[in-house]
Amino acid sequence: MRTTVGVLALQGGVREHQVLLEGLDVRVALLRTPADLTGPDGLRVDGVVLPGGESSTIDRLLRTFGLFDPLRAAIAGGLPTLGTCAGLVLLADRILDPAPGQQSLAVLDVTVQRNAFGPQVDSAVVDLASSLGPARVAFIRAPRVTGLGRGVEVLARRGDAIVGVRSGGITGIAFHPELTGELLFHRRLLADIAAGPTDLSEPEEAIAV
Ligand code: GLN
Repeated sequence: MRTTVGVLALQGGVREHQVLLEGLDVRVALLRTPADLTGPDGLRVDGVVLPGGESSTIDRLLRTFGLFDPLRAAIAGGLPTLGTCAGLVLLADRILDPAPGQQSLAVLDVTVQRNAFGPQVDSAVVDLASSLGPARVAFIRAPRVTGLGRGVEVLARRGDAIVGVRSGGITGIAFHPELTGELLFHRRLLADIAAGPTDLSEPEEAIAV
Protein backbone atom coordinates (compact mmCIF):
# COMPACT_ATOMS: atom_id res chain seq x y z
CA MET A 1 0.00 0.00 0.00
CA ARG A 2 1.15 3.53 -0.72
CA THR A 3 2.64 5.51 2.17
CA THR A 4 0.27 8.11 3.61
CA VAL A 5 1.70 11.25 5.17
CA GLY A 6 -0.52 13.61 7.13
CA VAL A 7 0.09 17.31 6.63
CA LEU A 8 -1.24 19.48 9.45
CA ALA A 9 -3.57 21.83 7.59
CA LEU A 10 -4.76 24.42 10.08
CA GLN A 11 -2.65 27.37 8.88
CA GLY A 12 0.52 28.08 6.93
CA GLY A 13 2.33 26.55 3.97
CA VAL A 14 0.31 23.35 3.57
CA ARG A 15 -0.03 23.19 -0.20
CA GLU A 16 3.72 23.29 -0.93
CA HIS A 17 4.34 20.23 1.28
CA GLN A 18 1.42 18.45 -0.35
CA VAL A 19 2.78 19.07 -3.86
CA LEU A 20 6.29 17.99 -2.90
CA LEU A 21 5.09 14.79 -1.19
CA GLU A 22 2.79 13.86 -4.07
CA GLY A 23 5.78 14.30 -6.36
CA LEU A 24 7.48 11.60 -4.24
CA ASP A 25 4.51 9.29 -4.89
CA VAL A 26 3.15 9.68 -1.39
CA ARG A 27 -0.55 9.91 -0.56
CA VAL A 28 -1.27 13.06 1.45
CA ALA A 29 -3.97 13.33 4.12
CA LEU A 30 -4.77 16.84 5.34
CA LEU A 31 -5.12 16.91 9.13
CA ARG A 32 -7.61 19.28 10.72
CA THR A 33 -9.54 17.20 13.24
CA PRO A 34 -8.78 14.20 15.49
CA ALA A 35 -10.77 11.99 13.08
CA ASP A 36 -8.36 12.92 10.27
CA LEU A 37 -5.49 11.52 12.36
CA THR A 38 -7.07 8.48 13.98
CA GLY A 39 -9.79 6.08 12.83
CA PRO A 40 -11.36 2.96 14.33
CA ASP A 41 -8.27 0.93 13.38
CA GLY A 42 -5.74 3.39 14.82
CA LEU A 43 -3.62 6.00 13.07
CA ARG A 44 -4.66 6.83 9.50
CA VAL A 45 -1.18 8.12 8.58
CA ASP A 46 2.33 6.66 8.47
CA GLY A 47 4.06 9.96 9.22
CA VAL A 48 3.28 13.63 9.65
CA VAL A 49 4.50 17.03 8.45
CA LEU A 50 4.02 20.14 10.57
CA PRO A 51 4.33 23.05 8.12
CA GLY A 52 5.60 26.57 8.58
CA GLY A 53 3.26 29.43 9.31
CA GLU A 54 2.75 31.11 12.66
CA SER A 55 3.39 28.71 15.51
CA SER A 56 1.25 30.55 18.06
CA THR A 57 -1.72 30.50 15.65
CA ILE A 58 -1.24 26.82 14.78
CA ASP A 59 -0.98 26.04 18.51
CA ARG A 60 -4.26 27.86 19.21
CA LEU A 61 -6.04 26.16 16.31
CA LEU A 62 -4.71 22.73 17.39
CA ARG A 63 -6.32 23.21 20.76
CA THR A 64 -9.54 24.67 19.28
CA PHE A 65 -9.93 21.69 16.94
CA GLY A 66 -9.10 19.15 19.68
CA LEU A 67 -6.08 17.89 17.76
CA PHE A 68 -3.36 19.04 20.18
CA ASP A 69 -3.43 16.03 22.55
CA PRO A 70 -3.98 13.28 19.93
CA LEU A 71 -1.19 14.69 17.75
CA ARG A 72 1.18 14.97 20.69
CA ALA A 73 0.40 11.39 21.76
CA ALA A 74 0.93 10.05 18.22
CA ILE A 75 4.31 11.78 17.79
CA ALA A 76 5.46 10.86 21.31
CA GLY A 77 4.41 7.30 20.48
CA GLY A 78 6.86 7.16 17.58
CA LEU A 79 4.98 8.53 14.53
CA PRO A 80 7.77 9.77 12.20
CA THR A 81 7.51 13.55 11.97
CA LEU A 82 9.01 16.44 10.02
CA GLY A 83 8.48 19.95 11.40
CA THR A 84 9.50 22.94 9.31
CA CYS A 85 9.97 26.43 10.77
CA ALA A 86 6.82 27.02 12.87
CA GLY A 87 6.61 23.21 12.86
CA LEU A 88 9.97 23.07 14.66
CA VAL A 89 8.69 25.57 17.23
CA LEU A 90 5.64 23.35 17.78
CA LEU A 91 7.81 20.28 18.33
CA ALA A 92 10.20 21.91 20.80
CA ASP A 93 10.11 21.18 24.52
CA ARG A 94 10.96 24.80 25.29
CA ILE A 95 10.27 28.14 23.53
CA LEU A 96 12.50 30.98 24.74
CA ASP A 97 10.17 33.74 23.60
CA PRO A 98 6.64 32.36 23.28
CA ALA A 99 3.69 34.55 22.31
CA PRO A 100 1.33 35.12 25.28
CA GLY A 101 -0.23 31.77 26.21
CA GLN A 102 1.67 29.89 23.50
CA GLN A 103 2.18 26.16 24.11
CA SER A 104 4.13 23.56 22.18
CA LEU A 105 3.69 19.83 21.70
CA ALA A 106 6.96 19.32 23.64
CA VAL A 107 8.05 16.12 21.92
CA LEU A 108 11.59 17.16 20.92
CA ASP A 109 14.17 17.92 23.60
CA VAL A 110 15.33 21.31 22.30
CA THR A 111 14.97 24.98 23.18
CA VAL A 112 14.08 27.32 20.31
CA GLN A 113 14.19 31.05 19.86
CA ARG A 114 11.59 32.37 17.42
CA ASN A 115 12.32 34.84 14.61
CA ALA A 116 16.07 34.47 15.20
CA PHE A 117 17.12 35.68 11.75
CA GLY A 118 15.06 38.87 11.63
CA PRO A 119 11.66 39.82 10.23
CA GLN A 120 9.98 38.81 6.96
CA VAL A 121 12.04 41.32 4.92
CA ASP A 122 15.22 39.43 5.92
CA SER A 123 13.93 36.24 4.26
CA ALA A 124 16.58 34.50 2.19
CA VAL A 125 17.31 31.44 0.09
CA VAL A 126 20.41 29.85 1.60
CA ASP A 127 22.74 27.01 0.63
CA LEU A 128 23.37 24.85 3.69
CA ALA A 129 25.82 22.02 4.25
CA SER A 130 23.51 19.67 6.15
CA SER A 131 24.56 16.25 7.40
CA LEU A 132 22.08 14.84 4.87
CA GLY A 133 23.92 16.63 2.06
CA PRO A 134 24.00 20.10 0.47
CA ALA A 135 20.59 21.73 0.71
CA ARG A 136 19.08 24.87 -0.86
CA VAL A 137 16.32 26.15 1.40
CA ALA A 138 14.37 29.29 2.34
CA PHE A 139 14.50 31.08 5.71
CA ILE A 140 11.39 33.11 6.58
CA ARG A 141 11.14 34.50 10.14
CA ALA A 142 12.97 31.33 11.08
CA PRO A 143 13.70 30.07 14.58
CA ARG A 144 17.04 28.73 15.79
CA VAL A 145 17.85 26.04 18.30
CA THR A 146 19.55 27.47 21.38
CA GLY A 147 19.67 24.37 23.56
CA LEU A 148 19.48 20.67 22.91
CA GLY A 149 19.16 17.49 24.92
CA ARG A 150 21.94 14.95 24.74
CA GLY A 151 20.07 12.54 22.50
CA VAL A 152 19.47 15.21 19.84
CA GLU A 153 21.60 15.16 16.68
CA VAL A 154 22.43 18.40 14.83
CA LEU A 155 21.53 18.17 11.13
CA ALA A 156 22.37 21.66 9.94
CA ARG A 157 23.81 25.00 11.00
CA ARG A 158 23.59 28.44 9.45
CA GLY A 159 26.78 30.13 10.59
CA ASP A 160 26.92 29.38 14.32
CA ALA A 161 23.19 28.82 14.63
CA ILE A 162 21.72 25.32 14.81
CA VAL A 163 18.87 25.17 12.31
CA GLY A 164 18.23 21.46 11.88
CA VAL A 165 17.93 18.70 14.49
CA ARG A 166 16.82 15.14 14.76
CA SER A 167 15.91 12.73 17.53
CA GLY A 168 14.39 9.29 17.00
CA GLY A 169 12.00 9.64 14.09
CA ILE A 170 11.49 13.37 14.66
CA THR A 171 13.22 15.88 12.37
CA GLY A 172 12.92 19.60 13.08
CA ILE A 173 14.23 22.21 10.67
CA ALA A 174 14.08 25.98 10.98
CA PHE A 175 13.76 26.54 7.23
CA HIS A 176 11.52 25.70 4.28
CA PRO A 177 12.73 23.00 1.87
CA GLU A 178 9.27 22.83 0.28
CA LEU A 179 9.62 26.36 -1.15
CA THR A 180 12.80 25.54 -3.07
CA GLY A 181 11.87 21.98 -4.03
CA GLU A 182 14.61 20.57 -1.78
CA LEU A 183 13.73 16.89 -1.28
CA LEU A 184 16.35 15.77 1.28
CA PHE A 185 14.30 16.29 4.42
CA HIS A 186 11.07 14.77 3.12
CA ARG A 187 13.08 11.79 1.89
CA ARG A 188 14.50 11.50 5.41
CA LEU A 189 10.93 11.38 6.74
CA LEU A 190 10.04 8.65 4.22
CA ALA A 191 13.17 6.68 5.22
CA ASP A 192 12.10 6.95 8.89
CA ILE A 193 8.66 5.64 7.94
CA ALA A 194 10.20 2.75 6.00
CA ALA A 195 12.49 1.94 8.96
CA GLY A 196 9.49 1.32 11.21
CA PRO A 197 8.81 2.41 14.79
CA THR A 198 11.64 3.97 16.80
CA ASP A 199 12.28 3.56 20.48
CA LEU A 200 12.17 7.04 21.94
CA SER A 201 14.63 7.02 24.80
CA GLU A 202 14.02 9.26 27.79
CA PRO A 203 15.34 12.77 27.15
CA GLU A 204 18.41 13.59 29.21
CA GLU A 205 19.45 16.81 30.83
CA ALA A 206 19.40 19.79 28.43
CA ILE A 207 22.68 21.49 27.56
CA ALA A 208 23.16 25.04 26.31
CA VAL A 209 24.81 25.46 22.90
N1 GLN B 1 8.33 32.92 13.21
C1 GLN B 1 7.25 32.01 12.99
C2 GLN B 1 6.77 31.41 14.30
O1 GLN B 1 7.31 31.63 15.33
C3 GLN B 1 7.65 30.88 12.04
C4 GLN B 1 7.83 31.38 10.63
C5 GLN B 1 7.65 30.34 9.58
O2 GLN B 1 7.14 29.25 9.82
N2 GLN B 1 8.02 30.67 8.37
O3 GLN B 1 5.83 30.70 14.28
